[in-house]
Amino acid sequence: MHLLTILAFACLLWRAETPPEFWLIPPDNAFGTSGAAVGLVGVIGLSAAAATWKARCNLRAVPGSFGPHSFHHRAMTGLRVLLIAGFATLVMGTAWPDWFAFGKRSPWLQIFGDLIVLSPFVLGSVSLWVAAFPFERDLRSQGEARAPGDDWSLWTYLDFHLRHQLLVVAVPMLLILFAANLTRGFDKQLIMWSGSVFAPEVALGGAAALVFVVSPVLLCRIWRTETLASGPVRDRLETLCGRINLRCRDILFWKSGGVMINAAVMGIFAPVRYVLLSDALLSGMTPGQVEAVFGHEAGHIRHRHIPHFLVFAFLGWVVVVSVMEGLARASLGPDPWLRLSLPMIEGAGLLVTGVFWGLGFGWVSRSFERQADLFGARCVAASAEDCHKPCSIHPDSGTTTNDPWRVCSAGALLFASALERVAELNGIPRDERSWRHGSIGHRVRFLVKAADDPGCVVRFEQSMVRVKRLIWAAAAIGGSAVAWYWLMVPQPAILVLQSGSQ
Ligand SMILES: [Zn+2]
Ligand SMILES: [Zn+2]
Repeated sequence: MHLLTILAFACLLWRAETPPEFWLIPPDNAFGTSGAAVGLVGVIGLSAAAATWKARCNLRAVPGSFGPHSFHHRAMTGLRVLLIAGFATLVMGTAWPDWFAFGKRSPWLQIFGDLIVLSPFVLGSVSLWVAAFPFERDLRSQGEARAPGDDWSLWTYLDFHLRHQLLVVAVPMLLILFAANLTRGFDKQLIMWSGSVFAPEVALGGAAALVFVVSPVLLCRIWRTETLASGPVRDRLETLCGRINLRCRDILFWKSGGVMINAAVMGIFAPVRYVLLSDALLSGMTPGQVEAVFGHEAGHIRHRHIPHFLVFAFLGWVVVVSVMEGLARASLGPDPWLRLSLPMIEGAGLLVTGVFWGLGFGWVSRSFERQADLFGARCVAASAEDCHKPCSIHPDSGTTTNDPWRVCSAGALLFASALERVAELNGIPRDERSWRHGSIGHRVRFLVKAADDPGCVVRFEQSMVRVKRLIWAAAAIGGSAVAWYWLMVPQPAILVLQSGSQ
C-alpha cells in the first residue's frame, strides 16, 4: 500500500513534468473532458462496487482451491492494483488534472488542486478498507486477544489504516509535491537569481532532504505515540542505551489498538531520532525479549544503516541517470544509432530502477537485518554465571572472553525466541520469505550458527565492512563523474530531448 501511494504521487509529478504530447490523451482531444468524467466515475464507482462484491464473496465462504484467508489477500491485492491502474489512467490520460491547475494563477495554490486530483485514489482506498473490515474483524476475533477491552469498530480500523498506510507516505510526499510546485512555478526566477540552470533541481533536492530529516517528528504525530511510561521496561532499555552508547530523543509507546507487533527506529540525527515499540509487542513479550528487539533496532543505528541506505539510494540514482543520459545521447544527432523517444528512455530508466532496487536493495536490506540481529543478540548476552549453554564467550561460569565480535549462546537463543515470538504473534509462518528481512527461520539458523562458530561471525562482519565501503566508493566515484559531466557538457542530452519535444 505504501508503494501504491508513492505511485499515485509519482503519477502527479509525471503529469506536471511531461510535455502534453506524451500524455496518453492530448489535452485538445474532445475525449479529454468526457474521458475525465468517465474515468472519475470509473475509479470511485468501480472500487466501491468491487469492494462490495469482495465483501459478499467473503461472507459466502468462497469455494475454490484456496481458502477464505488467501482469497481475502489475493482479492485485496488485485483490487488495489486495479485502483492504482485506474487512477494512473485518470491522471496521465485525461483532462482531470487540468480542471484543478490552480498553479497557473499562483504556484502556491497548486497544492490545493493536487489534493483534489488525488481524492479519487483516497476515496478508492477507503472503500477497499471498508470492504476488508468485516473479514479482518472476524479474523481478529478468532485470533489471540491482543489488546483486551478495546472495541474494534470500523472507525478505529479506518483510523489505523489511514494513519499507517496512507498518511505516513502522503504527508511527506505532499510536502515534496508542494516544493516541486514552487521550484517549477518559480524556475525562471531561481535560475536568474542563482545563475545556474540546475537551481530548481538543487532547490527541490534540498527541500526533499529537509523533509526526510524532519520526517520522524512528523511520523510520531501521524501515528498515535506517547512517551514510554517509566517502569522496569523503560529502566532496562535506558540502561542498555547507556551501555551501548545509543542516543535518541525518546523511546515511544506506539499505540496501534493491538494490531501491530512491531518495533522501529527512525531518524538519522539523535535530536530527531525515536525508537518505537508497539503496544502488542510490549504486552506479548517478556522483558528480555523486548530488550532483544530493542537491541536489534539499536543495531540499525549503531551500524549506521540509514545513512548507508541513503548512499545506496544515491548510487541507484547515479546508475539510472547515467543509463538514461547514455540512451539519450545515442538517440541524438544527425545520424543516431538509437532512435528512442523520451517516454521510451523514461521507461528504460524505470526498468533499471526496478532491477536495482528489487535485487540490490533486497540483498543489502537482508544483510543489514542479520547484522542488526547479531547486535541485538550481543545486547542480551547473559552473564558468565547465568550462561548455561556451551558458549564461546563463557567457557565456564567464571570466565568471560573479551571479543567484541563473538555472540553469547544464551543471548543468541533469547534473541531467536524474540524473533519466533514476533512471528507467532503476527501469524507469519516460520519459513515465509521476506524481501526486506529474510525469513524468520533463516535468521534463527544464522544466529545459532553464529553462536556456535565465532569464525563465521568474523567473516560476516568483515564482509559487511567491505560491502559498505564498496557502496561508498561507487557512490563517490559515480557521483563525481555525474557532477563532472554536468559541468563539462553544455547541455545534457536528456534535457535537449525534453526541450526539443516542448
Ligand atoms: Zn530491522
Ligand atoms: Zn554465553
